[in-house]
Amino acid sequence: MEIQTQMESAAPSVLPVFTEISLAVTGALEEWNNKNENNIKNDNDNWVEEAVPGVIRFDYDANGRYAEFQQLYSGAPVVFKAYLDHSEHFRLGPTMSLWVTKSNSPSCATESFCRAITIRFPTAAASMAFASTVQKWKSDTTVAGVGGELANGSSDASLNLNKFDKKIEPSSAKMYFHYYGQLLHQQNMLQDYVRTGSYYAAVIENRIDFQGRVVVDVGAGSGILSLFAAQAGAKHVYAIEASDMVDYARKLVAGNPSLGHRITVIKGKVEEVELPEKADVLISEPMGTLLVNERMLESYVIARDKFLSPVGKMFPTVGRIHMAPFSDEYLYVEIANKALFWQQQNYYGVDLTPLHGSAFHGYFAQPVVDAFDPRMLVAPSIYHTIDFTKVKEEELYEIDIPLNFTASVGTRVHGLACWFDVLFNGSAVQRWLTTGPGAPTTHWYQLRCVLSQPLYVMAGQSITGQLHMVAHSAQSYTIHLTMSAKMWGAGVDQGGILQSSSSKLDLKEPYYRMSQPQAYAWAQDQSAQQLVQQQVNGLPSQQSDETVLVQQPIQASVILQQQQQQQQRPSQTSEQQSLFFQS
Ligand code: SAH
Repeated sequence: MEIQTQMESAAPSVLPVFTEISLAVTGALEEWNNKNENNIKNDNDNWVEEAVPGVIRFDYDANGRYAEFQQLYSGAPVVFKAYLDHSEHFRLGPTMSLWVTKSNSPSCATESFCRAITIRFPTAAASMAFASTVQKWKSDTTVAGVGGELANGSSDASLNLNKFDKKIEPSSAKMYFHYYGQLLHQQNMLQDYVRTGSYYAAVIENRIDFQGRVVVDVGAGSGILSLFAAQAGAKHVYAIEASDMVDYARKLVAGNPSLGHRITVIKGKVEEVELPEKADVLISEPMGTLLVNERMLESYVIARDKFLSPVGKMFPTVGRIHMAPFSDEYLYVEIANKALFWQQQNYYGVDLTPLHGSAFHGYFAQPVVDAFDPRMLVAPSIYHTIDFTKVKEEELYEIDIPLNFTASVGTRVHGLACWFDVLFNGSAVQRWLTTGPGAPTTHWYQLRCVLSQPLYVMAGQSITGQLHMVAHSAQSYTIHLTMSAKMWGAGVDQGGILQSSSSKLDLKEPYYRMSQPQAYAWAQDQSAQQLVQQQVNGLPSQQSDETVLVQQPIQASVILQQQQQQQQRPSQTSEQQSLFFQS
């Protein structure tokens, strides 16, 4: 709708007109003015390189369809025509475009394009409507002479939604890019020296892949990876970033001029930005918790298909999700106890127990993010590989991983522990960045899906199941976990009794536990175990929401107090926020 205000009401016909824009000429301006080529006709040679208010009209004549650019400033308006058949239009960001006109001039023989106009639109909608008009006028043979159907460019703009906007909830995207627009969150990632150091080493040790090459930094943030690529000798780096962090990235790039002059920072989503050339290398840090959280891998893959030359390289190249069953009695009790609050029958005279079952399942629906001791793993881990160079974007919408483990010890299994690693498959050095337990801790920590009904296993017993992840429009995944083990003992002759436990978790709502004090460190004795056992026995089964009451007013209030104290810890609160996405 906004675009209607951009259309001149007094337009001589229904042909599209774009006003309230600014136009700046770049490229071979002099030659442009001096030559009278058949693809460009300038009526005046007073074009200025600074951005000045302008108008663009679409029209046609005997030679074909053209856009007529007009810079408006004191003095006579300046006009030239650019025929669409001889022009290319690139969107550089939500409100910025580049119009490039092909040259027939001998001096431009080595370059297929050598003249350009930068166009700035007042709104993203106006920019989209313009792009859509160009597309339509280039492709639609009915346009010239008919006109009418383009009287209102706004309808075209709606068809032009990029892949990101089509699948992601606007409110989620807004929060997401707001988050990354803040320096403190970029700092949090930069201060993860395992992460940033691995990227630095992977780039610098593989100079051979960067030297003299065109690089695209997908989701550049502060621009750090672009600067690394420039350090490694990249010819040019396009740093694409959708959040307001671009302003800081530009400052950082400008403040490092020896590298920065080879970096162009572009504001926009990779899904909507167009680049004037293909890239030899893509560099990106698109990994979220469990590798896939944030759904940025999809943007990385879209960028691959849009920008990367068929023989180009991707840093990182491959990602793997690792999984193993774990046993952690304290964690299990801690989560179960969170719902104890709802077991109070007299909370200011109100019986809270009807909500206990729901609260209990709600807590188990939160994946736990912390660093755990690898000795808690009860079987060797398995992994699922995602090859960034080959995976299709749609294949990331639903990820299905069959589970099959052999227990190393007899114990209670409380769920599935997961972590990931990525490989930088450089020509000189292959380098892995791992987030596994026991390795130096990263800001991603590890992730555990806890089952509300643990399984009992014996050493040598097989644990099977499925990890099924379905992407949702809030840039994350719903996780469906099922784990099963055959019970030994009675019934084993008939194939054993199958114990099976399932849970549904939301990867978007993790429980950040790493700053928690070890609330139960003291409790590795009987009294704690009894408390746990009583509470767990008193909890509803996973299948039913039916509440079984356990009267423990004193213990409940003690635990409640503990929880309240923990929640007051400022470090926990700030860390929870700072690790909202990439942790
Ligand atoms: N490359 C930086 C930042 C990584 S965090 C570093 O390694 O430090 C990921 C960044 O990608 C965020 O700044 C986020 O705003 C950006 N981003 C995520 N999805 C994007 C998309 N579709 N288009 C452009 N930028 C995106």
